Amino acid sequence: MKRAQIPLLLILLCVFARGQAAPAKTTYLRCGSLFDGKSGQLKKNVVIAVMGEKISEVGANVPAGADVIDLSRETCLPGLIDTHTHVLLQGDITADDYAVQLLRESPEYRTILATVNAKRALDYGFTTIRDLETEGAGYADVDVKKAIEYGVIPGPRMIVVTRALDVTGAYPLQGYAPNVPVPHGLQLVDGPDEARKAVREQISYGADWIKVYSDRSYRLRDDGVLDDIPTFTLDELKAIVDEAHRERHKVASHAVALYGVHNSVEAGVDSIEHGDYIAPEDLKTMVAHGTWYVPTIYVGEYVAAGRAAEGAPVWLKMLKVHEDTFHRAMKAGVKIAFGTDVGGFAWTINPAKEFEYMVKWGMTPEQAIEAATARASELLDMQDQVGTVEAGKFADIVAVPGAPLADVTLLEKVDFVMKGGVVYKPK
Ligand SMILES: [Zn+2]
Repeated sequence: MKRAQIPLLLILLCVFARGQAAPAKTTYLRCGSLFDGKSGQLKKNVVIAVMGEKISEVGANVPAGADVIDLSRETCLPGLIDTHTHVLLQGDITADDYAVQLLRESPEYRTILATVNAKRALDYGFTTIRDLETEGAGYADVDVKKAIEYGVIPGPRMIVVTRALDVTGAYPLQGYAPNVPVPHGLQLVDGPDEARKAVREQISYGADWIKVYSDRSYRLRDDGVLDDIPTFTLDELKAIVDEAHRERHKVASHAVALYGVHNSVEAGVDSIEHGDYIAPEDLKTMVAHGTWYVPTIYVGEYVAAGRAAEGAPVWLKMLKVHEDTFHRAMKAGVKIAFGTDVGGFAWTINPAKEFEYMVKWGMTPEQAIEAATARASELLDMQDQVGTVEAGKFADIVAVPGAPLADVTLLEKVDFVMKGGVVYKPK
């Protein structure tokens, strides 16, 4: 059988099975409180009706004899969305930690670890993730995504970017003898034509988004501006963005400092990842273009310690610059989505730690939670499916004990997870 025939056969089987089955039954979630991600307010004693994989009603009455999940001591929220993860990475504090994963672990072994990380993400309460490249593990993210979609393994809904792009000489592994061929953590491209070809190739193998690394080698100037070496030329970046957009895909740009961010914004990327320093005029352009900012705060602190130990103390100074940028971005009205870079730090650390940092840097708990729910779903163009607790959306619902609007660190204690109407973590 040709591969192309398989999906059609699956659809026919599903339709046939549906035709035979009784109507999907309704389950009722009795929530002590509900933060729906939409109204900005906490509602008390709300019952959510879930039929099949979707929410059928919010504020339902429970009929006698119905299936009820008692969350009356909990606050229910939309399933969390992390827009910057790496399921194929296990945390790297130093360059050597990274090299070990690329040189000593096969892509197959790394994929097995990734399935464990996908389960961890779901257990932490993340029902959707945008996984921002496999770091040398090829197209393995497409397979992890597929295995989750087919119900082979538990995990969040995944948006994947596959291999990511950078130019020759800019991305690890670096520093080996020229006669020793070593793998790189992404696909190297030089020139607009190669870049376009790589975008076409990655999309053809399953990339939902394209990711570029726009800068490297950071240094703090005397005037407080964080400087960098831009990797791509503006022409190369424009070719990538044009090609991706032409094929109805979006572009995420790892851009930490002045030129990387500026070129990315000028080229029309859809999200700036990290953005430790963003010039005031680039913030204005981001607002005008609707470019998203995914600040990934916690990982900065995590990485800084390791980089400083390796003799790059600039990473410690970058934290202050980043905090100032975050304040300026909020003030300018830039769209901010929650993303953590987990995988850059170990998956045994709950990425929901990021909430605490967003609030410490000036967001209200409501804003931080919305950045990880409704706002994040907009970034992913999935606002019709996930991100809020509303009738018609996927029943992606999590719960925490107590009042997360008073103490946002409770998001690190998700003790109930439902995704698509299926309970993955029972209370
Ligand atoms: Zn990352």
